[in-house]
Amino acid sequence: MRRLDLRQLTPEPSEWASVYGHAVPRAEVDVEQALEAVRPICEDVRVRGADAVLDAGERFDGVRPASLRVPGEVLTAALAELDPAVRTALEVSIERLRVTCEAELEHSVTTTVADGAVVERRIVPMQRVGLYVPGGLAPLVSTVVMNTVPAQVAGVTGIALASPPSKHHGGWPHPSILAACALLGVDEVYAAGGAQALALLAYGGGECAPVNLITGPGNIYVAAAKRYLQGTVAIDSEAGPTEIAIIADASADAELVVADLISQAEHDPMAASVLITDSEDLADRVDAALPAQVSAARHVDRIRTALEGQQSGTVLVRDIDQAVQVANAYAAEHLEIQTEDAGAVAERIVNAGAVFVGSFSPVSLGDYAAGSNHVLPTAGCACHSSGLSVRAFCKNMQVITYSEAALRDVGPHVVTLAEAENLPGHGAAVSVRLNRDV
Ligand code: NAD
Repeated sequence: MRRLDLRQLTPEPSEWASVYGHAVPRAEVDVEQALEAVRPICEDVRVRGADAVLDAGERFDGVRPASLRVPGEVLTAALAELDPAVRTALEVSIERLRVTCEAELEHSVTTTVADGAVVERRIVPMQRVGLYVPGGLAPLVSTVVMNTVPAQVAGVTGIALASPPSKHHGGWPHPSILAACALLGVDEVYAAGGAQALALLAYGGGECAPVNLITGPGNIYVAAAKRYLQGTVAIDSEAGPTEIAIIADASADAELVVADLISQAEHDPMAASVLITDSEDLADRVDAALPAQVSAARHVDRIRTALEGQQSGTVLVRDIDQAVQVANAYAAEHLEIQTEDAGAVAERIVNAGAVFVGSFSPVSLGDYAAGSNHVLPTAGCACHSSGLSVRAFCKNMQVITYSEAALRDVGPHVVTLAEAENLPGHGAAVSVRLNRDV
């Protein structure tokens, strides 16, 4: 991996985000550029609906399924044929995620502001959501779990799921994805991928009614489509090509660091693997261990492209303080801490999709069965967005109930403020109630 030496940089704290944010490895192609490709696809789906989705599938995925919606019997058959070991592993993954989702579910709060003056913050589930499950380079069966479990725990009743059609499976999405849908009771499944799938969910088309929220990860085109469609629908975050950053010091085990860098590079030629270290010796040991592990990997070409890309590299820092500054500026999707006293270092992280602490918490644990969610913001979006959770599927709705006496109590202040804003009609709506003869 290429090396970037940031040891001489000494920006002021106010400059950390900009100086380090620009200095760290970044992808050549960003979401803004991918927007050019997805805009016409989304517009075509908005105008022509299901036909446009099927046409785009033929163009990008090389197959046109018999129908956009996957028939129920195809889902049932996929579950019947699912490898029992995969089914058991999925059940463990579902159970662990369900436990955290249930614990994290927020509850309504009722506040009595004054006598007879009640404000309730009511938590209500989204009515209808669209879940995206990638299927281009790998059938991400685990993403069915990561999207669906929090939606179900939140109480969402309208769930539609889309995943790319596969030419190897008769035009339907990969059977393990369909089996996971059946296992979780999701029966509205569309054979659609990329921007056309997200546009279908947002605008509706064929049997698919528009959704209120789209969640789920995907490649750069999926992330760009989310940016384009935001506003028409809500989105969870831009969860694009995977990134792993590892803060490691001289105490880290190079074999483990390399295994983890490769584990995410395997996702996509555009995936980013970044090592941030204050130890040149560790950087050398990582470089020495990489070739053997890369050559032995199944997806060697994809991994090589990702590791040699502009988005990956080793960042040399003076000390762990600077490592923390760099990591917070980079805002990685996944951040591992492999240092002495990893817990204390993790306490200082404020920008990351998820943080994996210590040698026994690799990112791939979180990808499948940690009980955490693997749908996480990328490309620096962890500065402002969160990973997928049960919260994304809920809205806060305030419900205000005042008695006459309570309105009489605060009403004059409302009238005063309405006058101050030159909105007398606002004040009148209160006065008309209070000035009535009783
Ligand atoms: P995908 O389902 O995201 O994308 C496949 C779709 O991309 C195709 O159906 C096609 O419509 C579209 N596409 C391909 N080339 C295109 C082009 N030139 N123009 C327009 N559209 C095009 O599957 P994938 O490609 O395997 O990517 C999965 C991605 O998900 C990886 O990048 C992986 O890193 C990422 N991921 C991210 C997270 C996260 O939380 N951030 C989690 C898991 C996976």
